Amino acid sequence: MSQSGKNNFNFEELLEESVKTHGHLCPGQVLGVRMSMLGLRKVGINDPKGKDRKSLIVFVEMDRCATDAVQSVTGCSLGHRTMKFMDYGKMAAAYLNLKTNNAVRVVAREDSRDKAKNYFPEIEDKYKAQLEAYKIMSDEELFDVMNVKVEINPEDMPGKPLKRVKCDKCGEYVQDMRDISVNDKVYCKACVHGAYYIFRE
Ligand SMILES: [Zn+2]
Ligand SMILES: [Zn+2]
Repeated sequence: MSQSGKNNFNFEELLEESVKTHGHLCPGQVLGVRMSMLGLRKVGINDPKGKDRKSLIVFVEMDRCATDAVQSVTGCSLGHRTMKFMDYGKMAAAYLNLKTNNAVRVVAREDSRDKAKNYFPEIEDKYKAQLEAYKIMSDEELFDVMNVKVEINPEDMPGKPLKRVKCDKCGEYVQDMRDISVNDKVYCKACVHGAYYIFRE
């Protein structure tokens, strides 16, 4: 299964670990673990939580069960700025090796859902049948893999914030160059574009 020599990936162990952090076993855990094993292998990352931990950024395109599995396998997280959430609503993730700049995007194939049904017709619970099928289906049946190029801005990289400024309207501080300049003043995004919250009495 490996194409880049020795690696630390053991599917059963990784699944067990991701189920522990996610809270339940579901098809998303199986897909997320397998997607990540494949993506990491393709970009030559063998030890994502150890010696390769500073070489990896992952872009997830969904905030669903599989996202937790991606985090569990890769060790990447929002808080470490090593996981970027791209809100596309797609069952897909991209894995970027910062050392080589190689990146692959792995997308769950739509027809894998139908194919999964044929694997365990004797299991009545459709969810369970899908889950078990995802464990044994081939990478080619489950995923499309594409080589991609991903540019990452300096202000989005892990490490110390590059900039920290005070919003001229609300007075709150904004770091990481998320501020917006308008007519010689700087504002936060909430003050310019409107916030996701409204103030209550
Ligand atoms: Zn789940
Ligand atoms: Zn503001």
